[in-house]
Amino acid sequence: MTQSCATYREEDVLAWILRDSDAGAAQALAEHMALCPACRERAAEYRILQGSAGGFRNDPVIRWRRFDSPFGAMRVAASVAGLVALSWQDTCDEAFVAGLERRYPSTPVVCDTDELDPAEEQLTEYFGRRRPLFDLRVDLAGLGDFQRAVLDAASGLDFGETVTYTEIARRIGRPKASRAVGNALGRNPVPIIVPCHRVVRTDRTLGGYTGGLRYKRTLLGIEGRTDLLS
Ligand SMILES: [Zn+2]
Repeated sequence: MTQSCATYREEDVLAWILRDSDAGAAQALAEHMALCPACRERAAEYRILQGSAGGFRNDPVIRWRRFDSPFGAMRVAASVAGLVALSWQDTCDEAFVAGLERRYPSTPVVCDTDELDPAEEQLTEYFGRRRPLFDLRVDLAGLGDFQRAVLDAASGLDFGETVTYTEIARRIGRPKASRAVGNALGRNPVPIIVPCHRVVRTDRTLGGYTGGLRYKRTLLGIEGRTDLLS
């Protein structure tokens, strides 16, 4: 059941999803949504109803592009089903593309700036604290069942919410597997979008993060979790 919100009406949230609201209103609502579970829940429901949102054009290629981010050059890639990779660790385009070609040996990998515009736009908004919720599909096909279960569980975490590795292990029905959960999160092909940075240790220290803890710290800072950063 959808909770109610005293500040915004359903129409406002729908307009935001459809990108009908003007820039000022869109930013105000995005900032509000960061703090309002009711509006986030509504936005998530509309996103599902809208169906096509976040989808990609329907020809069998892997598309990728590069853009600048606060973490440096960021590269994203998508299949027709959704995002398959996000990386700021690769030293050059060739290394990123080679990784995609290894993963998808029978699918052409093409650079396509336009089709991945929404990914750049939404990540830029997120880094600017203007987007608490991504409207982008993720394609986790091809990963093992255990890793998918772990990443699915992490995907359910809300903006600014953290849980422990142990809790993720419990949620996927493998309560003793918290170390394996950590490994599976460490190999998350679509970080930030699948928010593995929201999983921390039982003692509230941050645990690990691929590419360095400072990124995890930055992401949690964007989400207002300064309590975890001391
Ligand atoms: Zn609200």
